[in-house]
Amino acid sequence: MQMIDIKSLRYEALEQFLKELGEPSYRAKQVFSWLGSGVSSYDEMTNIPKSLREKLKETTLLSTVERAARYDSKDGTVKYIWELQDGQCVESVVMQYHHGRSICISTQVGCRMGCKFCASTLGGKIRNLTAGELLDQVLFAEKDLGERISNVVLMGIGEPFDNYEQVLSFLKNISHPSGRNLGLRHISVSTCGIVDKIAALAEENLPITLLISLHAPNDELRNELMPVNHKYPMETLLQACRAYISKTGRRISFEYTMIRGINDFDWCAKMLAQKLHGMFCHVNLIPVNHVEENGLHRSEPETVERFQKYLQQHHINTTVRRELGSDISASCGQLRRKFLKER
Ligand code: SAH
Repeated sequence: MQMIDIKSLRYEALEQFLKELGEPSYRAKQVFSWLGSGVSSYDEMTNIPKSLREKLKETTLLSTVERAARYDSKDGTVKYIWELQDGQCVESVVMQYHHGRSICISTQVGCRMGCKFCASTLGGKIRNLTAGELLDQVLFAEKDLGERISNVVLMGIGEPFDNYEQVLSFLKNISHPSGRNLGLRHISVSTCGIVDKIAALAEENLPITLLISLHAPNDELRNELMPVNHKYPMETLLQACRAYISKTGRRISFEYTMIRGINDFDWCAKMLAQKLHGMFCHVNLIPVNHVEENGLHRSEPETVERFQKYLQQHHINTTVRRELGSDISASCGQLRRKFLKER
């Protein structure tokens, strides 16, 4: 018999499942609330009758993540390597801001998008994470830190829209009033630009923040850096973004990694400003993190500043990403790679 992955069920599906087991309707609320609280066994669910706990042990799988490593940075950033139940591992990063703690979680074990500057994709994709494993990264970090996390960013290893159904279940579950109840306004999802899923998400009309990894001002350069652009070229992507904004009323953020001598020329800023003209958006410039395998280097600080100024002068809200936790290994899948090599 196939075990049911109980933490990945949406509320309505859990309700249905418990109904089929002959349970009263209020039971779904109780169980769902436990699932959103970071328990690692059914015996912790003290208000659930023993007979039901036993039945659940026989028929379902209660996912958990194990802390395989924790690294603390001088600036308060904490990075985790989580071991999943099948022995695979992923990373999450918790950052400390004045308004609270923010966690960046992984959505897949590895990635198959092939972006040239990214460490997460070097070993390819091994598998998708389940909605339960997405939630677990938040819950078990909170448990480990002994503190609540106020913001979640789906920007770790993996492409969220290459795992759309599980990501959507996660968004629904973590924000459910009977579960962890984290407001969707406190959640951001970052995609390399899978256009049909941007359109699907627009239909859900959730008040999350959508981040688009753009990284180039035209197809020629974007094709080079991000193979996904061959399937979803820039004009198609920007059109989907415009439709998303008009459907949801939410501002989109574009991420643009600054790579020395590749995409940081003045003409790039100019072309980007033209393409984004009139759009309800924000640009975040990210000096590229060094990845040993790719030989790319970050732009000079003066170049980043000039790029930012140009966009701002053309009425595009533009910030430069502050670097956190660099003393404990750079971001985007590098920690997992290092951990795997050492192990
Ligand atoms: N697949 C999703 C989310 C994960 S990547 C996406 O592409 O958006 C998270 C962000 O980090 C993306 O904007 C990605 O382009 C960026 N990134 C990847 N490698 C990087 C590096 N070496 N330096 C700076 N940013 C990087």
